[in-house]
Order: sequence, then structure tokens, then C-alpha cells
Amino acid sequence: MDGIVYLYQYQLQKFFNDSSACTMGVAYEWKGEDVFHAYLEYPRVAPSGFAVACAFLKARSKEEFDNPSRVVDSCVAMSPALRQAKIAIIFHVAGGVVSKCAVDMDSPGKRYRVEYVPDKSNLYTRSKGLIEVGALEKKRVLIVGLGSGGASIAVELAKAGVGHFSLVDFDRLELHNISRHIAGVNELGRLKTNIVRDAILGKNPYAQVDTYPVDMMQEAELTERLVAETDLVIAATDSLASRYMLNSLIIKYKKVGLFGRAVTRAEGGDVLRVRPGGPCYACLKGSQWLVGEEEITDVRRARETGVIPAYTSTEDANAMVQVGLSTDIAPINTMVVKLAIQELSRGTECVIASLDNELDYDFYMWANRRELYFVNWAPFNHNPGRKKPTILQWYGVKFAKSCDCHECRDF
Ligand SMILES: [Zn+2]
Repeated sequence: MDGIVYLYQYQLQKFFNDSSACTMGVAYEWKGEDVFHAYLEYPRVAPSGFAVACAFLKARSKEEFDNPSRVVDSCVAMSPALRQAKIAIIFHVAGGVVSKCAVDMDSPGKRYRVEYVPDKSNLYTRSKGLIEVGALEKKRVLIVGLGSGGASIAVELAKAGVGHFSLVDFDRLELHNISRHIAGVNELGRLKTNIVRDAILGKNPYAQVDTYPVDMMQEAELTERLVAETDLVIAATDSLASRYMLNSLIIKYKKVGLFGRAVTRAEGGDVLRVRPGGPCYACLKGSQWLVGEEEITDVRRARETGVIPAYTSTEDANAMVQVGLSTDIAPINTMVVKLAIQELSRGTECVIASLDNELDYDFYMWANRRELYFVNWAPFNHNPGRKKPTILQWYGVKFAKSCDCHECRDF
């Protein structure tokens, strides 16, 4: 296979308008794969791969363009630093037509195919017909909490074509997050808001992503504004207090909210949907469905909040945050995403609206196995007629609004 160099068209205009014949850029390569992504400026979508220098060159004539080594030699004579480059991308513009090629600087006989990363109009053509991409493109989703839940949900919604995101989380990626988070060790230490922004932009470079690396409990005014401005609130936080605060704001601004969580060690989980006129998070308080320990996902925060006592050894504390496997959290994320798309596409003409007849519960429960909360559920496949719940299956529950709920009486 020939090598390929990918370019981002929007970065080239300045170079074409410039009078200079050559300039340095940065290319990212994957060792042994002969694939480069070349940039003239720090890209909107965070690059991956190993960075090498590359040269952007202009040929003065068609004849010169057809002899890349001549272009390389004349540019290096003018600007010896270009010798450092590993590849050269050569352009020739004539009559409004841009010709382009790329060569290896050490052996200009070695050519690469040059491609542009497609623009907005081409990126999501495959989704058309299944969902109305244009409709979701205008929607805004607020996601609070970007751990193993919120981060995955954000990326799935970007893939579905959601165009606007507000992301709230003050945490940085730590080693113990890696096995369940979308990010890998190459992003350790980064703010989760920025990691998720980059992951969204990797799927849709034209999404608008606003990041807020703050503790929402300390930023009441900001949180209120974000809820007021959004079409949908996704609460993927690991604290009760923050969920109650979001619940109040969802009611105040008549928004739709989705509350997803995994119960301890991801034995199972649940998703609550709050809609204007329906039951709210506080209506469930004291309900048998909402029992279960709070999810603990971070040792430092668990110590700060007293969930893990100060005298607990580091080893024991780490054991306490073993919150289950990613695969056990995935079903909960998927349900949140499905409900999110259903809510966002409400009122638009798309196939998924047909789900409205069936996906109409307020609360959804899922069990991965039987240890603590689900120990009394009937064994898997031992329940002909399915009178009792089994593991690995969703159960929808309809709730009556609690008439004395202090939060949503007037919702
Ligand atoms: Zn209520």
C-alpha cells in the first residue's frame, strides 16, 4: 500500500495566500504504517501519533511540481532548516486548481497520496436516513460528570450527530480511572473536560463544545445558567448532593433530565428520566428503588467526603473504589444515550420517534449479577413467563409523582 498524508483543508488557506514558497509544519506518524497527518497550526482536533517535522512547499510551475526533488532542493537552499523535515507536501496552484503531492525528504522518489480530511457536509452522510442528523446538530446537551458514564455518553451522542455540548467536571484523569474510561494512559493528568472535548471533536470536528472544569456545587450561578440554556441535562455525577441540585434546576427550567448511575461494583444500575409534569428525582427519595450505596469512583474525593475513613490504608481505599468492569457500566450508558436521542429527536420526523410507544418508562433498572442489591432476583433463565426479573435485561418502572414532593409539586 502507498503511504498517505492527510491534510486539514481549513489550515491551508493562509499558506496559499502567503507569498512565501515554503514553511515548516508538524506531521504525526504511526511507526511503520506510512500514514501521516500534517498540520500548519495546532489543530482543533487533538492529534495522536508521533510528531515529526514536515515541510509545506509551493512549486513555481507545473514542470517543477512534476519534479518534486527540484522543489525540495530549491526550498532547502533558501531555508536549510527544512532539511529537518521527514516529509514534504508540495502544492501547485494554477487556474484555481490545487495540485498536491507528498514525498519523503530523504528519498524524494518515495511518494505519498495526499487526502483531505472531509468537511462537515461529508462527515455524517452515512447516518442520514437513520436519524435526522440535522435536527440533533442544533441540540445542546449538558453533561455533568465525565467519568466512566458521562465521557462514554458524550462520545456516543457526538456520533449520533448532537452538535452542542456543555461539559462539567473538575477532575483529572488518574491511573485508577483508565480501565473504565474512554481515555488511555496517553492522557493521564489531563482535565476530563478537555479529554472528552477532544474525543467529541475527533468524531465531529464541527461540534461546539464548551468546557467547565469546575465543581458545580461551588458554582451555583454557572450551573443554573447551563441548565437554563440546554435542551437536555445528563447527570452522571457520583454525589447525591449534585444530583439533587440538578433535579431542582431541571424542575425550575422545565427541562428533561436523565440520571444514570451504577450501584457499587457495578452490580447493576439504573436510569431515571425526569420530564415536565412527571415524577422527579426527589419523588424517588425513600422509594425502595433508590436504595443502594453511592458509587465511589475516586479515592481522594471519597476520603474528603468521609466515605472512606481517614484511617483506611491506601491499599484498602483502592480496593473500595473497584467500581466494576467497564462492560458492566456500558449497558447503563447505552440506555442513557437511547433515552437522550429519543428526547432530543422528539417533535422531529425520524425513525427513532417510533420508540415513543415502548420506551416510555420513568425509571429503568439493570442487574449484571446477584451479590447485594439483586441477590433476591430470581435466577437467570429460571423463570418461565418472566414473572420475576432476571439479570442482563432492562426493566422499566412507571412512577406516580409524589404529591407531597417538596421539589416538583408545581412542575
Ligand atoms: Zn418530585
